[in-house]
Amino acid sequence: MAVKKRCVCAVLCVCLLVLLAGGGCAPDKAEGVNIVATVFPAYDFVRELTRGIPGVSVSLLLPPGTESHTFDPTVSDALALADCSLLVYAGGDADPWVAKFLNSDAMTGKPSAALCDAPFEALMIEGEDEVDTHIWTSPVNAIAIVEYLYGQIAPLLPASDVNTLDANRAEYIEKLRALDNDFRTLAASIPAERRVLAFGDRYPFRYFCAEYGFTAYAVFPGCAEESEPAAADVKHVVDIIREQKLDTVYYVELSNHQIADAIAAETGCGTACLHSCHNLSKADFDAGENYLSLMRRNLEVLNALAK
Ligand SMILES: [Zn+2]
Repeated sequence: MAVKKRCVCAVLCVCLLVLLAGGGCAPDKAEGVNIVATVFPAYDFVRELTRGIPGVSVSLLLPPGTESHTFDPTVSDALALADCSLLVYAGGDADPWVAKFLNSDAMTGKPSAALCDAPFEALMIEGEDEVDTHIWTSPVNAIAIVEYLYGQIAPLLPASDVNTLDANRAEYIEKLRALDNDFRTLAASIPAERRVLAFGDRYPFRYFCAEYGFTAYAVFPGCAEESEPAAADVKHVVDIIREQKLDTVYYVELSNHQIADAIAAETGCGTACLHSCHNLSKADFDAGENYLSLMRRNLEVLNALAK
């Protein structure tokens, strides 16, 4: 069943932006436009959209190398919002700690935008009464997010800078379309019976798998906070790997991959990392890795299934 997830804060945010836009008070210069993002995909998409626009700064609250689900922001993190022009966050279970910020004094009267408020086909987590909000793992959704963020950022900028924003949007969406196309081509080259992914880890790839026709089995139903999976769920993944003679069990970035290693030892298969881009290591961040490069890393990993 498809469910649209909307939140009250986003509706308020849209109203605020409408008021701002309708008031004719767009600034002459983009000076002091400070956009704060909670998680890496939000940061990366905003960074791509605002590239080369003077006076716009983009900052990432979740430090590189930090696991998003267990992150516990401090008061000093909230202080980063003091000069914030727009807060961009994932929404739902992808950055649950953002609730602290949305209700803080620093955010009073300031706009915020959740990635999961972009128009996309929401997927429920099996056995749970909630929507998975790791929506960016599908490049098709990433395009919808970029379009949505464009609409949130444009009212903050003077008309002269909106031209740059327009050009950045067009250029970046073209790259996302090429990425989508490459995944589609790869998926088509993998026989249907081999389009099966086993995860010995969290599972933030629901949207990715739905988009490209992969069937997935994971020891956690979604991107759970728990670190210990149920024994029956581990056994199920082990059984699937044996029955379907899978070569690889996958783990996600920033994982200690102990569960995947144990499953590999049990079944004799190999292990590989699929990057959900939820956050990246400090080394990857410092090396300038981004959504496109990390997803292309996944493309290479999955290319093994086509051989
Ligand atoms: Zn997650």
